[in-house]
Amino acid sequence: MSRLPAEHQPPADADARRAIAPVICYPVEALTPPDLPAYRAARDGWEQTDEVVIPARDGSAFEVPAGHFFRISSIEGPQVGDLNLWNAANLRERFYSGKTRALHRTHLTTGDRLWTAHPYLRPMATITEDTLDWYGMDAFGGSVHDVIGTRCDPYTHNLLSHGGQYHHCCHSNLTRALADARGLTLAEAETHVHDVLNVFMCTGFTRDTGQYFMKASPVRPGDYLEFFAEIDLLGALSACPGGDCSSEHSSDSTTCHPLRVQVFRPKAPPAGWISPPVNGYDRSHGR
Ligand SMILES: [Zn+2]
Repeated sequence: MSRLPAEHQPPADADARRAIAPVICYPVEALTPPDLPAYRAARDGWEQTDEVVIPARDGSAFEVPAGHFFRISSIEGPQVGDLNLWNAANLRERFYSGKTRALHRTHLTTGDRLWTAHPYLRPMATITEDTLDWYGMDAFGGSVHDVIGTRCDPYTHNLLSHGGQYHHCCHSNLTRALADARGLTLAEAETHVHDVLNVFMCTGFTRDTGQYFMKASPVRPGDYLEFFAEIDLLGALSACPGGDCSSEHSSDSTTCHPLRVQVFRPKAPPAGWISPPVNGYDRSHGR
C-alpha cells in the first residue's frame, strides 16, 4: 500500500467492498455445449489428409476444411507455438482471443471453443483433446494454452532493446506465412495477423504485481492439442523463438524445435453436427 498517495488511503469499508463475491461475466452454460462424445467418435477411421512441419523460429500456413480435425504436436523437444486462425474464405473473420478468454477462461482446454471476431462471433474451432490437461493451474498461477498473451513481435522488442531489429518473432513468422499462403505483400498480410492462442505455452500473471509471466512449458514430444474445424479454416502457426519459453524470446539464443500440424478427415461428420452460422445480431446498433 506504500504506493498510495496520501489522498488515496483506503475507505473505512474497504475490506467489506473487497469481500463482495465475484460474478461470472458470461454464463457460457447458456450456449449449446459441443457434443464431445460425438466429436470423438468421428475420429474412428479418420484419414490424415495433410501434414505440415513448422521449422524452428519460423511459421507455416495450413488449411482445414469444416468438419475436419487438426492436431498440433510437439516433436523433437519442448516448444511453444503461436496460432492464428481465419475463415479460409474471408480473412476479416479471424480468431478473437479476447472474447474467447472472456467466454471461457484464461487458458483453454478440451471442450473450449475458439470464437471469431465481430461481426461474425461464432465458434470457428472446438478443442477436442488436450494431452496437457493434467497440468491444471500451478502454484504460481501458471497454466498452458493461454489466450492472455498476444504474440512476440519486433515492435515491442525494438522498444525494450532500444532499437533492436529481430525478424523471427511470432508476429513476423505469421506475417510471412500468411503472405506466402495468400499471395499478399508483407504489409497486407501483417494487417491480418492477430492475437494468438499460445499453444503449449505456460503463462500467468504474477500475484503481487499482476505482470504477465512465462515459465518452461511442460510439453514433451508426443503431446498434442487437437481441434475440430467448425468452419473452413486457414491457419498459421509459428514455432516461437522463445522455444519452451523458459528464459527469453525475440532472439536466436534459445534452443528451439519444430512443431507438427496434421489434418484429418473423418469418415463422416460428428452425429448431429452442423457448421455454425454467423452471429444473429442485426447490426443496426440502435439506428
Ligand atoms: Zn513468439
